[in-house]
Amino acid sequence: MPSEFQLIQQFFQREQAEQPAEGVLLGIGDDCAILQIPAGKQLAVSVDTLVADVHFPADADPELIAERALRTNLSDLAAMGADPLWFTLALTLPEANEDWLRSFSRGLFTCAREFGIALVGGDTTFGPLSITIQVMGATQSQQTLRRDGANVGDFVLVTNFVGDGAAALAAIQNTHTFADEHAEYLQQRFYRPTPRLYESGLIRDIASSALDISDGLVADLQHICDASDLGAVIDVESLPLSPAVQSLNNNSQSYQWALSGGDDYELCFTASPEKMADIAMLIAQGKLHATVIGEMIPGHKVICEYKGESFALDTTGYQHFSS
Ligand code: ADP
Ligand code: MG
Repeated sequence: MPSEFQLIQQFFQREQAEQPAEGVLLGIGDDCAILQIPAGKQLAVSVDTLVADVHFPADADPELIAERALRTNLSDLAAMGADPLWFTLALTLPEANEDWLRSFSRGLFTCAREFGIALVGGDTTFGPLSITIQVMGATQSQQTLRRDGANVGDFVLVTNFVGDGAAALAAIQNTHTFADEHAEYLQQRFYRPTPRLYESGLIRDIASSALDISDGLVADLQHICDASDLGAVIDVESLPLSPAVQSLNNNSQSYQWALSGGDDYELCFTASPEKMADIAMLIAQGKLHATVIGEMIPGHKVICEYKGESFALDTTGYQHFSS
């Protein structure tokens, strides 16, 4: 049976050695990695843990688990306006299963290559399956997308579609059935969410605040409200829904997913009326897919309206996997 050391070597150190990495003076193998932050930039750091049967089914394809873990962490860098640089990986494994690790490593490095981020260290322990990834990125103070920058009258926008994360969970847990093409799309959206790094690069000079939607649009927009000491109103009818979510033909369910479902990993951001021409230009050029869904107002809460009437949110909340 290979030792922990051999496993790290085989599935992580060797793989990483094949990829050029900027600013890595010393990578995997020593007690610490030594990293050079690009001149004039600041370091953005975030960490997230995914626990088997809470955040993903324990028997899910390891390649997909790796992709999801890295992609959701990259989404935090996008939400901050930061460019990916490096990440560390703390793996807790129930056993030293080489097939599992081979597949996990394949997913991890496919994703790392795609988004230009380098593995620089980690930890490997044995216990119930869990994956912790810490990402590091470069940011520039004027371009940092914080939560506390929104102003009254700013428009609220979201990228692409909202509600897919919750719809995917419903498909995976078989509480709703979708046609094959929609089920396949939702499966991809769940395991391979696209960190909106490209969009983040486009809006970081324009947006007044931003975050990524992980807990649900209303809950996350509430964070912008809290940080900016404001309220917000969402026009429910304007929520951008994917063809998969629309195929349900049940608007009330679709809107609930879009408003309170988690795991969308889209950006929710605010922009002042003066900056809306820039946003409209990016949208017209086909570079940015984003929709105005509401406005920042005085107050403290996120309010949802449908055709001018108050829209009641189902607050039963986010459904995790249960074991
Ligand atoms: P230490 O006892 O000093 O913490 P470890 O034996 O835990 O060292 O790790 C040895 C080297 O391998 C370190 O450079 C560490 O960053 C790296 N490493 C351990 N596990 C992983 C992993 N899952 N992914 C990437 N690097 C890892
Ligand atoms: Mg260690």
